[in-house]
Amino acid sequence: MRATDVIAKKRDGYELSGSEIRFMVDGLLSGEVADYQMAAWLMAVLLRGMTDRETHDLTRAMVESGEVLDLSDLAPVVVDKHSTGGVGDKTTLVVAPLVAAAGLPVAKMSGRGLGYSGGTLDKLEAIPGYDVNLDRERFMACVREHGIVVSGQTADLAPADGLLYALRDVTATVPSMPLIASSIMSKKLAAGADALVLDVKVGRGAFMETPEEARELAELMVRIGEAAGKRVTALLSDMSQPLGCAVGNALETREAIETLHGKGPQDFSQHCARVAGEMLYLGELADSPEAGARRADAMLADGTARQKFTEWISAQGGDPRVAEDLSLLPQAPLVRSLPAPIAGYLAAMDARTVGLTAVELGAGRQKKGEAIDLSVGIVVRKKVGDPIAQGEPLLEIHARDEATAEAAARRLHEGIEIADAAPQPPPHLWGVVRSRDQG
Ligand code: URA
Repeated sequence: MRATDVIAKKRDGYELSGSEIRFMVDGLLSGEVADYQMAAWLMAVLLRGMTDRETHDLTRAMVESGEVLDLSDLAPVVVDKHSTGGVGDKTTLVVAPLVAAAGLPVAKMSGRGLGYSGGTLDKLEAIPGYDVNLDRERFMACVREHGIVVSGQTADLAPADGLLYALRDVTATVPSMPLIASSIMSKKLAAGADALVLDVKVGRGAFMETPEEARELAELMVRIGEAAGKRVTALLSDMSQPLGCAVGNALETREAIETLHGKGPQDFSQHCARVAGEMLYLGELADSPEAGARRADAMLADGTARQKFTEWISAQGGDPRVAEDLSLLPQAPLVRSLPAPIAGYLAAMDARTVGLTAVELGAGRQKKGEAIDLSVGIVVRKKVGDPIAQGEPLLEIHARDEATAEAAARRLHEGIEIADAAPQPPPHLWGVVRSRDQG
């Protein structure tokens, strides 16, 4: 088999066989398929799409590129979560310790920033010492001893996704339904959890811009999970404006810690409780998602989730003092506020513009493997629907220097709309898709 033939077949719109798909995935790992050939193939997949069968085969080939963990001796049910990616989405940093503190083990494999959407691993690396590269033994030891682990793809676990993810990030091949579904589900199936909550983001700051597309992606991932015998719930949640206030790695970690102190932005705290509620329900620790969310709320307020956060960070080599001392996080040298040009109501704070501006400030990568600046980013001070006085700060820009701050300010103005009348804020949740075994 030759990579050029498989690329041409997909380019011309034909369905690939399981062995052709496996050849590309295995070939990337062995070196038989070059990076540039894989990049061309990814673009062909993005443009031509894949059938359900091809997407299942791609997911399986990616899972089988490494080991599959068996967590069955750790707990009766292990639950995982994953977001399709958004702007300001630091949910895992709060929800993982929250759910683990309730007694439900969390074994999570996360990713880095992708395009304008941030990545959990980059956010965790803002914590001095935190190790995102655990091998299988340490991954297992963390779940066994602490009931929680959040790590990246390693040489052992879904290694194909690590390579593909980094290539897609810099070749404009992220927003493809089969590529997103196989990337997420391969990591999830390799990490061995029994049940999964998917947070499928909808809107300008998400890879799926409409509720219809997001539902299609959600249904595809739920079907892949079902075929592998997993219970899966997908929440379709809004990403037209950033989630919470902070966008940028250390800024988001800070906001997550504040949320664990019960002082997070309302939309973000509510979102965390909802995701955690679904996880507790799937993990059979709550009678309903709503009861799970109430329990999660209580655990955010009483400090139990924060204690677990400290234990988790320490178990993965991070400085646990960060939970009480936010000055340990990287801080940008320059903070500049962006005042409202006129009075009115905030009608739009375009999540994509905010995400792209954060990347330009240095919070995300423009080339594969590029170093990022963990300290820079943006803090949104107003949410859609809020009244605004002229001159009031709309955003804060955290930058390396004046020139990048100035460029960011110019760009951010393009994403802000102020109206005379109060607009209807977007719904937090656009829908829920559940696997069939949940009735
Ligand atoms: N998250 C992933 O893990 N993969 C994608 O492709 C998109 C979001």
